[in-house]
Amino acid sequence: MNFKNLNIIQPILNAIETAGYTQPTEIQELSIPIILNGHDIIGCAQTGTGKTAAFAIPIIQLLQNKPTTSKAIRTLVLTPTRELAVQINDNFKLYKNTLRISHMAIFGGVPQRGQVTALKRGADIVIATPGRLLDLIDQGFVNLREVEILVMDEADRMLDMGFVNDIKKILKHIPKKRQTLFFSATMPKNIRSFAQTMLKEPKEINV
Ligand code: AMP
Repeated sequence: MNFKNLNIIQPILNAIETAGYTQPTEIQELSIPIILNGHDIIGCAQTGTGKTAAFAIPIIQLLQNKPTTSKAIRTLVLTPTRELAVQINDNFKLYKNTLRISHMAIFGGVPQRGQVTALKRGADIVIATPGRLLDLIDQGFVNLREVEILVMDEADRMLDMGFVNDIKKILKHIPKKRQTLFFSATMPKNIRSFAQTMLKEPKEINV
């Protein structure tokens, strides 16, 4: 199996080649076709498995294949920490290559001004920690009414960190009709039932 067999478009293939990846990891091989087909996913996956590329690559391709003139946010990635938000944002930058897709990270612990300025310019993809995102939503700086794809990254850690109520409030601002990709390192009962509240007929993957 290689990335070309997964029907990845050329600009992304070029980025993958530059990154030096010769073949998809297991989670990428399983997830990419499901995501490109528009299905929801529930996936048990650890960091280090290539999970970020497993969702970032097909998301870029889906957005690219369905262009819009709107400045609204089209994809929201929720992740527990600032470090992960920055890392995921860097991954999107790498894989989008020359494509005109904009992305930004939102996280707490820094002044909000730069993030507000970037939001006003508009971003196709926002990668955010729940607390700061909700704060910016409440101040009217974030519009999630046109989100097409929602990613929950490291869901178990987000719940451990006490983000459950913030996430529930954020979800109220996102259309019900969307694609949802739910990833967690562990899948105990409480995480699974939390996932069920936001997924529609998800395909399940385990790596
Ligand atoms: P992640 O699980 O997303 O944190 O990724 C772990 C590491 O694997 C990152 O440093 C990626 O750059 C790298 N990686 C992702 N996909 C591949 C691949 N197909 N081949 C080799 N390395 C990869």
